[in-house]
Amino acid sequence: MKDKRRPSELEACWSEKDMAGGEVVPAQVLIMRTSGCAWAKAGSGGCTMCGYRAASISGVTEEDLYRQIDEALSKYAGEPFVKIYTSGSFLDEGEIPPSIRERIFEEYRGCRRILVESRPEFITPDAIGSLPERTTIALGLETSNEDVLRTCVRKGFTAAQSREAGERVKDAGLAVRTYLLLKPPFLTESDAIEDAVSSARFADPFSDEISINPLNIQHATYVGSLWRRGDFRPPWAWSLIEVMRRLSGTVSARIMSSPSGGGTQRGVHNCGRCDREALGAVERFSFSQDPGDLSVACECKSTWERYMSAERMLGTAADVMPPESELTIRV
Ligand code: SF4
Ligand SMILES: [Zn+2]
Repeated sequence: MKDKRRPSELEACWSEKDMAGGEVVPAQVLIMRTSGCAWAKAGSGGCTMCGYRAASISGVTEEDLYRQIDEALSKYAGEPFVKIYTSGSFLDEGEIPPSIRERIFEEYRGCRRILVESRPEFITPDAIGSLPERTTIALGLETSNEDVLRTCVRKGFTAAQSREAGERVKDAGLAVRTYLLLKPPFLTESDAIEDAVSSARFADPFSDEISINPLNIQHATYVGSLWRRGDFRPPWAWSLIEVMRRLSGTVSARIMSSPSGGGTQRGVHNCGRCDREALGAVERFSFSQDPGDLSVACECKSTWERYMSAERMLGTAADVMPPESELTIRV
């Protein structure tokens, strides 16, 4: 089918709440259309959960990228925080040429904070040396477990490389936001909780913020095919709350989460009745860091506990019950 998307248009642009200078502020979020992630294009097929390939498009020229910035500026309402994502790495000059990077930082010179994301191999002293101090580099570490990173996520870099990149960013006087993946495929729910907690402890020394991303099912991904045949359930919101509760007060970085697709079958969810309350609690905690904000009550909490026991008993990470039976499982 012919791709009707224009390379000169942004993939998406919206405003949401985030933090800058210790305050909750509006943030403009841009998803730029680029030629795509170098790792995904290298014949690896990309990471198992990543649908960002869908946001990449061939034949994006420098002129197209200029137009995308024009579009972003036309929608800019003076938000103090601007977050710029591409379908790969902002610091990869094959995706974002230096002239585009310079224009972005010049146009947004008035804002308090700018966040861009990159794979560690592009975070060189040269690439970050000229960035303004208000820049935050986002690292998609996902997990500190090298085996999980290699076999379940297929990330194409090691946790050690990510840590070295984080340290380079800190040495350059910039901030780091580390993204962790809650529940990579082939991990049970309880192993996923342990994995996220230990990964956050690993990332804490080089991170100002740690964002827990519960896996959500994106189109045309390997995890999507597991999910369609009933072999994967996105994490429970209880698991996300548990990770935040366990990390609270024990790490220096701000712990946060802004789940995509939360409350749907494709995203982090509980029973359906308490999802809104659970995700509201996660959002409040992300800003306050007060564990009291994580209090949520619903009878499905015991179902979540039984779900984890069932997985352990059966020795499987495959989804152990269809969605309609989530309230009735007995083990
Ligand atoms: S998750 Fe990041 S590194 Fe992995 S394929 Fe997607 S854009 Fe590339
Ligand atoms: Zn519930």
